[in-house]
Amino acid sequence: MHDSPRVVVLAGGVGGSKFTLGARGALRDRGIDDTARVLTVVVNTGDDLWLSGVRLQPDVDSITYALAGVNDTQRGWGRAGDTERVNHELREWGAGWPWFTLGDLDLGTHLARTGWLREGLTPTQVVERMSRRWPLGARLLPMTDAEVDTIVTVRDGGGIRSLHFQEWWTRHRATLEPVDFENPGISSAAPAPGAVEAIADADVVLIAPSNPVVSIGPILSVPGVRDALRSTSAPVVGVSPIIGGRVVRGMADVCLTAIGVETSAAAVAGHYGARADGGLLDAWLIAEEDSDLAADVERSGIRPVVRPLWMTDAAASTALAAAALDAVHG
Ligand code: GDP
Ligand code: CA
Repeated sequence: MHDSPRVVVLAGGVGGSKFTLGARGALRDRGIDDTARVLTVVVNTGDDLWLSGVRLQPDVDSITYALAGVNDTQRGWGRAGDTERVNHELREWGAGWPWFTLGDLDLGTHLARTGWLREGLTPTQVVERMSRRWPLGARLLPMTDAEVDTIVTVRDGGGIRSLHFQEWWTRHRATLEPVDFENPGISSAAPAPGAVEAIADADVVLIAPSNPVVSIGPILSVPGVRDALRSTSAPVVGVSPIIGGRVVRGMADVCLTAIGVETSAAAVAGHYGARADGGLLDAWLIAEEDSDLAADVERSGIRPVVRPLWMTDAAASTALAAAALDAVHG
């Protein structure tokens, strides 16, 4: 154990950012002021895309904006108080994707990122640079520096076709039946520098209640990440994104169905698996609504912890993260 616990969070966008805010809050409540020194967030980059010549990293941006307190909490994505003048102009040109809105402030982020990438910075270096603008209280790492955008294969009108995750998710609202999710090139990708080291050096690793298939799934598919989670001496604690058999928001149920996992807190725990049994988890937080599933989780070799899982505000997220931090030692 370090003097202040080293914490690593694996996270996607919206669920991931609420939970990361909670983790930062829980560490502050323990008297740790310099949380950036102890809190590392490994962020999904499977959602990333090129659009109108700029590189978007939706999950990285969601977490950055949320930690900086400049996110649009009403809409659930992008910057608070953003406008869409450039987006309107792109539409007039017939450029980009008409169903994918880019805010003006958000475009500033994408331009800055793309410029730095073009100058030769790695994605990890760009994220580090972007983390200097606001006191985020966490070190953010993309899961990898490789471009491994998620491609979804769907059934469409009797045929099968593949499309970028963002087109499937945003344009089609996940209504085309998915049969497969892939991250082309991921088998030869490497974890971002520092990610495996952070997991090895952690006192606790937390898997945020993010989409298990398209947010946590890609992170776990980066070669080396799964082994790092299996071999760290830190306990690995996950939080269920499923409450009472339902996804809280979003369309994670469609993704789970596609990979043959039931939309239940116990089934997602089984999908991650018990560390004792070749999987990843030591403990799994489930909602009070799902307390009857605790025995199932326990039987699969994972310690069930029943807690309120609704991240309705910062205090609730902080209480949830605190419970996750204490799930094994507490
Ligand atoms: P995305 O990248 O923006 O889709 O966000 P994430 O993958 O990080 O998180 C999406 C998941 O968060 C959804 O599948 C929800 O099930 C889960 N989620 C959202 N809000 C809550 C909450 O308040 N509590 C819990 N336990 N899960 C939540
Ligand atoms: Ca995402």
